Amino acid sequence: MSAPVSTPRGGARTRGAAAREEEPARRVDGARQPEDAAEAALRPQRLTEFVGQKAARENLAVFIEAASGRREALDHVLLHGPPGLGKTTLAQIVARELGVGFRATSGPVIQRAGDLAAILTNLEARDVLFIDEIHRLQPAIEEVLYPAMEDFQLDLIIGEGPAARSVRIDIPPFTLVAATTRAGLLATPLRDRFGIPLRLIFYTPEELRLIVARGAEKLGIALLPEAAEEIARRARGTPRVAGRLLRRVRDFATVARKTPVDRATADAALTRLEVDALGLDAMDRRYLGRIAEHHHGGPVGVETLAAALAEARDTLEDVVEPFLIQEGLVLRTTRGRVLGERGWRHLGMLPPTGPQAMLDLAPE
Ligand code: ADP
Repeated sequence: MSAPVSTPRGGARTRGAAAREEEPARRVDGARQPEDAAEAALRPQRLTEFVGQKAARENLAVFIEAASGRREALDHVLLHGPPGLGKTTLAQIVARELGVGFRATSGPVIQRAGDLAAILTNLEARDVLFIDEIHRLQPAIEEVLYPAMEDFQLDLIIGEGPAARSVRIDIPPFTLVAATTRAGLLATPLRDRFGIPLRLIFYTPEELRLIVARGAEKLGIALLPEAAEEIARRARGTPRVAGRLLRRVRDFATVARKTPVDRATADAALTRLEVDALGLDAMDRRYLGRIAEHHHGGPVGVETLAAALAEARDTLEDVVEPFLIQEGLVLRTTRGRVLGERGWRHLGMLPPTGPQAMLDLAPE
């Protein structure tokens, strides 16, 4: 039986149908898009090459060294954080550092318990199994994972009807590295089975500058440090976006015969792509504008915003909002989304001073 393996997550996965037809893919969307096939060339291969995420990196280094020393499978790892921050990359690095095999699949791809059983029985001892988007795993399949993660055993039902019987088989000790954009969506028993939960956070402009500079080197692009800085500043704290913007800036520079690429060329290219000084694109500005103009700055529920913008709620919550919230452009409160003062200013508007400003809004 051939087991399902990794499929690139299309950016279209959670995008509303209407938006999908009308708009080109977003440049600053952290979710993987078809054009990102080129990003494999930029993936760091070792932990020491992996820029940023100091806490996650240092923890992993210790646990990897300890597991390798004991020649045991590393404890299961849960990576959570917005798309494009390096979860898949880290999973691959873990396998490489441990010197073991790497197998990848994703929650929505595993349709039947048998699919997962086939993958698990084909692992070699200490291999890394990467399950992307684990929050989208069906509950019945999660049940198969529990004894596999805990005791390295599979409970299989053989046959059907009255003749059906359950057998328990051993599988090789393995490490599950799972990724999710939202750990909160995971069932508690599943979350509790990960000995090493790691949260990835947005990168600083300085970390992204280094990632862009190294990327340019790998791709053979002559880029002045000031241009790397400009791309980094507008990459939404996300290496995937940085890589994508770098490739597009290269295209502009090639056509304009500008080499090495300087800040003015990078700026012109990014402005043509409608990526503004903060790294926001048309979608972000529509989102902010909607709260300002139709809801006087909020609070407004995420469902209402999703319907008005023809976007899936998941897309808003996973891809659009995290960066806007981290930057203080939007606040998530118990009563809905509220435009922050920075959000108003970014739209070139002034925050209201009337009763709306007096609302007592607790953070969610
Ligand atoms: P995720 O699985 O979180 O969506 P990926 O691991 O696929 O993200 O990373 C997206 C892109 O960003 C890849 O091209 C990867 O090489 C690059 N990248 C991610 N993290 C880093 C990092 N720390 N240093 C350099 N490049 C990175």
